[in-house]
Amino acid sequence: MIESKHIEALGQMLGGKGLLTGPADMAAYETGARYDKGSAAFVARPASTAETSAVVSYCVKNGIALVPQSGNTGLVSGSTPDATGSQGILSLDRLAAPFDLDRINRTVSAGAGLRLSEVNRRLEEAGLFFSIDLGADPRLGGMIATNTGGSRFLRYGDVRRNVLGLTVVLADAAGTVLELGSGLRKNNTGVDWKQLFIGTSGAFGIVTECVLNLEPLPRQTATAFLVPSAPDRVPDLLVAMEDALGSYLSAFEGMSKNAVSAALAHVPALRNPFQGGLVPDFVILAEISRTSPPREGEQPLDAVLEDVLAGIWEREDAPLADAFVGPPHEMWALRHALSEGVKHSGRLIAFDLSFRRGDIMRFLAHMKAEMPARFDGVTICDFGHIGDGGVHFNLVVPADDQRLAGPGFEAALREWVFKVAVEDFGGSYSAEHAIGRKNRVFYDRYTPGEIRRLAAGLKALTSPGPLGSVTF
Ligand SMILES: Cc1cc2nc3c(=O)[nH]c(=O)nc-3n(C[C@H](O)[C@H](O)[C@H](O)COP(=O)(O)OP(=O)(O)OC[C@H]3O[C@@H](n4cnc5c(N)ncnc54)[C@H](O)[C@@H]3O)c2cc1C
Repeated sequence: MIESKHIEALGQMLGGKGLLTGPADMAAYETGARYDKGSAAFVARPASTAETSAVVSYCVKNGIALVPQSGNTGLVSGSTPDATGSQGILSLDRLAAPFDLDRINRTVSAGAGLRLSEVNRRLEEAGLFFSIDLGADPRLGGMIATNTGGSRFLRYGDVRRNVLGLTVVLADAAGTVLELGSGLRKNNTGVDWKQLFIGTSGAFGIVTECVLNLEPLPRQTATAFLVPSAPDRVPDLLVAMEDALGSYLSAFEGMSKNAVSAALAHVPALRNPFQGGLVPDFVILAEISRTSPPREGEQPLDAVLEDVLAGIWEREDAPLADAFVGPPHEMWALRHALSEGVKHSGRLIAFDLSFRRGDIMRFLAHMKAEMPARFDGVTICDFGHIGDGGVHFNLVVPADDQRLAGPGFEAALREWVFKVAVEDFGGSYSAEHAIGRKNRVFYDRYTPGEIRRLAAGLKALTSPGPLGSVTF
């Protein structure tokens, strides 16, 4: 597909480690975290911003399409090439430098190819961390391009709230390098261009370096599983917890019985923490944390949580039926195993939805009531970040279900879910996974024409070359 002279030129630019063309070497880059398998013309792995600029410039001048890829944990077919074999993967996995901690500014300047776990491992000694927390281990560039949310959004916000500067390479003939922001926390001197590259799936440019806000590591943490008195009381429970705990509350994660049961069935390392092994219909994992070390005479955090829960439970018409405090690592292990458990329960059709917080449980109740009549045999295994309105609305279909073989079953299911979520409940069809080939059709459907025209104008202005798995 790509002329051999281009492969040779890229090879000279990048050296042995920097260009992969063999099928076995490229396979992992061509295969997505969950669904997709594409076919790449090559994998280019620049090791610096300058090399990235040179590769991008060459590809733009020669009309070669590039798909940026970081940790390849995205779930909307954004980081992998299509099946044509004509796109090159621009892997940013070698962009490991710099790593400059500014302790006083509480920021780090980091290469976009660093993994989240590596960043946090290196920051631990300074008592700091990059506060986005999730069940995968992405790289910084991909987190920025998807504006990752995660389980502690409730307290720390998303990536957008924590990026203070970016270095970006544009897909134009020059491979222009932009330095956008330098770690200033306050800077209102015109358009904040860095925001254009956050959450836009790499369509406007490639992130090669970033300056991130850091947070003090929590020194004390307590967690509890909460059983609401009824699913529709979950919003009242959330408000009661926020009223009582203020900014101590760092997570409020919802888990359905089906999702928890799937995790317990398929992840052997987990212990069933529920009395008699009976999993409640809906469980909340609540976390509170303090960044100060324990002080003499101060009530331990477990006791604070127990007191608050007892106070809520004793209320007349309490939104809480039951609760127990337990070890954070065990409780989070169950929460983080939900994806894995659900994945092994049958054929998974997953949705990353969000709603105003008061609408989540209404949406879930509506879908549970309607599903049997519309798509009999489909099991809802939902869980999500209830505290910030996010729902991983997972549908599991038995793998041997004959309807899966026929055309249109999955498409009809998707159409219905998106219609109800977006049109009837005013939600988002992509809460935190951004846009990829998988949900592109819904971008076209649900983005107003004026906004699409503006986005196309910005694309022409920034990166007119063929970049990313979707074009805005
Ligand atoms: C088990 C599991 C749990 C998850 N939980 C969550 C969760 O709780 N919250 C959440 O938000 N997400 C979650 N995700 C999704 C995923 O981990 C995030 O979207 C992640 O931030 C993607 O980062 P990545 O490095 O893997 O990017 P990739 O998958 O490599 O790329 C994602 C997108 O960004 C573009 N891109 C990549 N690097 C760059 C770059 N340097 N410059 C420009 N564009 C680039 C790609 O082209 C693609 O469109 C989960 C995924 C898994 C598998």
